[in-house]
This record gives sequence, C-alpha cells and structure tokens, in this order.
Amino acid sequence: MQRQSTSAPPREEGRPRAAVVRDLQIPEFITVAHLAELVSVSPIDLMKQLMRAGIMASINQAIDYKTAAAIVPGYGYRPLPAVEAARSARVEEKAEDPSLLQERPPVVTVLGHVDHGKTTLLDAIRKTQVAEREAGGITQHIGAYQTEYEGHRITFLDTPGHEAFTAMRARGANATDIAILVVAADDGVMPQTIEAINHVKAANVPIVVALNKVDKPEADVERIKRQLTEHGLLVEEWGGDVVAVPVSAKARTGIEDLLENILVVAEVAELKANPNRPARGVVVEAKLDKSRGPVATVLVKNGTLNVGDHIVVGNVRGRVKALVNDAGRRLKSAPPSTPVEILGLNDLPQAGDILEAVANEREARALVESRLQQQGAVRRHVSLEDVVNRIRTGESKELNVILKADVQGSVEAVREALGRLATDKAQVRIVHAASGAITESDVFLAVASEALILGFNTTIEPSARRVADAEGLEVRFYNVIYTMVEEIQDLLEGMVKPVARDVVEGHAVVRVVISRSRQAKVAGCQVSDGRITRGAMIRVLRKGQVLYDGPIQSLRRFQEDVREVGTGLECGIVLAKFDDFQEEDVLEAHRQEQPQTAGR
Ligand code: GDP
Repeated sequence: MQRQSTSAPPREEGRPRAAVVRDLQIPEFITVAHLAELVSVSPIDLMKQLMRAGIMASINQAIDYKTAAAIVPGYGYRPLPAVEAARSARVEEKAEDPSLLQERPPVVTVLGHVDHGKTTLLDAIRKTQVAEREAGGITQHIGAYQTEYEGHRITFLDTPGHEAFTAMRARGANATDIAILVVAADDGVMPQTIEAINHVKAANVPIVVALNKVDKPEADVERIKRQLTEHGLLVEEWGGDVVAVPVSAKARTGIEDLLENILVVAEVAELKANPNRPARGVVVEAKLDKSRGPVATVLVKNGTLNVGDHIVVGNVRGRVKALVNDAGRRLKSAPPSTPVEILGLNDLPQAGDILEAVANEREARALVESRLQQQGAVRRHVSLEDVVNRIRTGESKELNVILKADVQGSVEAVREALGRLATDKAQVRIVHAASGAITESDVFLAVASEALILGFNTTIEPSARRVADAEGLEVRFYNVIYTMVEEIQDLLEGMVKPVARDVVEGHAVVRVVISRSRQAKVAGCQVSDGRITRGAMIRVLRKGQVLYDGPIQSLRRFQEDVREVGTGLECGIVLAKFDDFQEEDVLEAHRQEQPQTAGR
C-alpha cells in the first residue's frame, strides 16, 4: 500500500520543467501505465518519479488522486481534482462525436411514499403494454422493462424507491434519466415523498409527478400541488416547470397521459447515445439461477451489447452467451437503454456494477485486474478537507449538508440558522433535512452528493454508521445550535478544525424502572450490544429521539459498583441529571475521541 500523500512535486533531473501548463483531469484512481500515457512519458520514467517521492508502484498498480496530482506538475500539467466514475461516464458520453449520437429511450425510476402506489403504477404501465404486444412473449421479471408509446420506447426500472436509486448513484452508476414521483392524492406529501424529492434533486434528474389514486373520492389534486410547491416543485399550470399528471394506477386511467409527458421531458433532455461502439452498462439486478448460473440484468447505457461479446461486469468476467429481454425473447443485440438479462458470466456481479464490453479475453482479464487493484488501493474518500479545499480554491461555492434532527421544530430552527450562514466564497446548501435518526439512505445520499451529515439531538442507525465508516464519511453530532453554527461557519471560511469524534460503545435496553424514595430512579437494563463503561456518556433514546445526554452517576451489577458491563448482561444505571426512564428506552453509551494532532 502506498503512502497517501506526497508533499513535494517530483524533482525532475535532466528533464526541463515544461513551460506550458496544461490542465489534466485525473480520476480518483489511475494505473501507473494510464497516467504515463496521459502525461506522455514512459511508465518506467513515471515509476522512477514515484519512487523518488517514496512510492513503490508497479506498472499496473493504481495510485490515488493525491499521489498522481503531486507528480504531474513535474510534467507540466495542472491536476484537476477527481472526476468521479459517474461524472466521467457522462463526460465520456458527451465527448463522443455528436454526429455519431442517436436518440435513445429514457430510463425512468418510480419513487414516492410507501403505499402511494408505485408498484401498482409500474404494473399498470407494464400491462398496458402486454395487451398491445403481439402474442408469444411471456413477460418475466428481470428488474426492468421496456414499454412503447406512440412508437417511442421507454425503459422502466422495476425497483421503486429512492434507496435503490441513491445507492446506485453512490456507487457511481447513474442509471435514471427521469424520476416519476408518485403522490397519493388522498394522502398528500409525506416524509418519504420529501426524501425522494431531495434525493432526485440532488441527482439533478427531472421529475414528473404522478398524482395517484384520483379515483378515490377524497383525492384532492389541488392540495397536493400546493404541498409540492412548499418543497420546491412548482407545477406547470402555476407557472413552474414540473409536469403533474392525475392518474389512477388501479383503474388504469391517465397512464397514457403520463407516458406522453415522460416522452416530452425526455425530448427536452435530448437523451443520446452512440449505438455503434462497445457497450457500457449498469447492473440492475443479479441472481444465481440453478439451471442457468449467474444471471444479471443489465441496462445498456451506451453502445450495443451483442451475443458473443467479451465483457467485464464489476470484478466479474465473461462472454455473453445469451441476451434475454423482459418479454422472455432472446435477442442478438441490445442497443442503448435496453434492459437485458445476460448469461455467460463466471460469477455473480452486484447491482450497481458497471459493465464494459472489451475486445477480447486478454483485455477482460486486464480490466478485472485493474479494477481489483483499484479497490485494493487506498480509497480516496470525499473527506471534509477535500470539500473545504474546493471552497477555498473557489472551485465549489456550496457546502452540501444533510440535516437530521430529533423533531420537525428543530429541523426548521437549524435549517434557518444554517441558511443564514454565508461568506463571500460559499454558502450552505441543504440537500435534505428531516426529523429522525440518520439512516443508511442518508449516508448514500451524502456519498452521492458529497455532503456532510449533521445530526442535531439525534442518533445514527447502526447500519448507517457501518456504511459511513466504510465510506469515510463525516458525520457530526450536536445538541447546541450555537456550536453547530460556529463550526459550519468555520468550514465555510475554509477552516477545517479537527473535531472530537463521537464513538458509540454500546447500547442497553431499559427492562425495568426502579424507583427509590427521594433518590433518582434506576434503569434496570440489559446490554444489547457493545459495552457500557462507567466513564461513558449516555444518550437516552426513545423512538429514535434523544431525550437526554449526560454522564453516568452509577453503574452496578448486583449492588456492586462495576467499571464495565458487556453484551448480554444486566445492570443498573443511574444518570446524573435524568431519571425519567421508561421501559424499552435505549441507553446509548458513547465517548468523545479526541482528534489526533499529528496527521490524520
Ligand atoms: P407502493 O408501496 O407505493 O408500491 O404502493 P402499492 O402499489 O403497493 O399500493 C398500495 C395500495 O394502494 C394497494 O392496496 C393498491 O391497491 C392501492 N392503490 C394503488 N394505486 C391506487 C389507485 O390509483 N387507486 C386506488 N383506489 N388504490 C390504489
């Protein structure tokens, strides 16, 4: 593993520093061979320079952005910060000769609050199509399907919900061109509707609203439009640019109107691809089939995928044995925006993996190799320092923030306080704000939109903590608005101060509350995970809300004071200034880990 940073650019011996400085876009990871090609030197030369900087890297090994950026000025290049996979894919599409590009069908994802009718709508759209289709094909579930309306194709991803949408995006795979936001007209804008809106906005994907369940007498379309306005979606009839179509997924009315509007939005977006190049796509779903082996549903994003093509999907290699579409038909080739099942992989890829068609097996092996090495290399995460650096250099004017707080009142208060913060260089942009604990979906959104997560009087779900740690994502907790505001102001001014990290040590569930006359009540608990130590701070959580946060006064087992209680054991806890316990409250033991002053 190579060192993460090299402070000085390489000394070039016998090589005059180039007079012209050109910009060079360097991805997050790059192999030595590839970087050498970009700066037009021999890989050996580059390896020597790296060695001088204290980095031993072989020709096919990947180095990270920081390392590459320190080296390239020596060759007369100004490094430009990491272009993430998704962006580079888009750049790649854009960079294609415009004369080779052809229109491609839009790829649509359906999002919205639970029970608002996403699944029913996807079904209704699919069935409209089945009725029209010539007999013979048996529709099968492959994770995506294509429908046709007035001679135009539309591709629908079959996994509704913003979690899947954002998880893919966090992995660098932007599959969706248009989002349908389903809002039940009898129910209105709900928490997950707002979450979906924010996720889609962060992805910069156009939204078409389906005002569903208009068959119900309680349906009130105008009320929903008003609610949508409050969340930044102004419908066309009120002077905005959001199309809202009344539908009934159940009675199958308004579906054609919806499809027509999707086509209009698609036309505005000018979705194009070059069908005459090797395929590039993204895995929508993958499963191991008993008789057919590993089967992956892939959405072809650019180029055409053919039977017989050598492919690399994530870290998996193979040769396309068969292509099967959503109607169960075998295809010889799949042009852009086509969802197809592919057979012939040597292992199971993951949803969100990128597929690339390559010339031959040798190339496939090399690509898998380099992808594996990239994963082995030190991953360059979007650290707070990078974000702040970008603000400092003027490259970015916004500090993206995801805000979670205990109750809606705090959300509003914090949102307002942060909204007022600005310097002449930058301001805070709230990507998403809601009440409740920090979830996995918040973390994926943060990764995808390079945002900082702020928790105010709230906590983080264990699964979300795991993802955040794995992604090296910054999550900060506060319980005083003033402190939060001060720290964020510092960030905007380009100052990153290391902050104490909040480390959760364990949880205990209150089983029984023991009252003692004129003394604080004791929480009789069982440690559910981790451990509780005498010196820890305790957060009292009730239904995900933080009621109190403070030190332990006493920690006992069988009347004995103890220093620590491990998982599965029972104990009595008394807190210094809180005793209003209820059964099923969760006591979260945590500790502030002071930042290390030397390095990171
Ligand atoms: P999802 O959770 O968003 O996927 O919602 P579902 O598609 O599972 O729908 C939830 C419930 O609403 C089901 O009982 C559907 O039958 C019902 N539903 C969906 N669309 C409509 C509609 O247009 N009208 C009425 N009356 N009910 C609907």
